[in-house]
Amino acid sequence: MRATGSLTTSTKPDAAWADVRDRLRARGLRWTPQRRTLIEVLSRSDGHVTGAELVERCREIDPATIPSTVYRTLDVLEELGLLSHSHAADGREEFHVLPSAVHGHLHCIDCGTTWEIEADEAAGLVKSLERRRGFAVDVTHLSIAGRCGDCTKGLESVANAAAPTETWAS
Ligand SMILES: [Zn+2]
Ligand SMILES: [Zn+2]
Ligand SMILES: [Zn+2]
Repeated sequence: MRATGSLTTSTKPDAAWADVRDRLRARGLRWTPQRRTLIEVLSRSDGHVTGAELVERCREIDPATIPSTVYRTLDVLEELGLLSHSHAADGREEFHVLPSAVHGHLHCIDCGTTWEIEADEAAGLVKSLERRRGFAVDVTHLSIAGRCGDCTKGLESVANAAAPTETWAS
């Protein structure tokens, strides 16, 4: 498990984006300046990024960026396997650029940090749901909201500090 915020720029196989123009065309999408800008932004993105963040980054390059074009293109790129999406605690889509290992997410409702749940960590739950319910879990859509260890400790110390003392009790 690692905090997603710790993801930094990794070596990105440019090859993955090399034939994207032809692959988009094959799906009936024209190669427009907006799409070229989006691919440029994506090839420089890593970790988890929301659609709104991508629109924002595209707008910095091309102020005429239309969000619906970006989202439509993201859908097709996901079909092509260049992206995958998961959902944050509030249901918002988060995109993974060139997804590698399948993983779910833990979201802390206090500090807002997100961690990845590796497939082997989720295996117990996945197997149990499959055995008992015949339910096949999509681990990429496994998102669990709660409180992280640090925030839980923080709450405990606040609770202890606020707890009535002997003086109060007597
Ligand atoms: Zn989804
Ligand atoms: Zn936390
Ligand atoms: Zn993730």
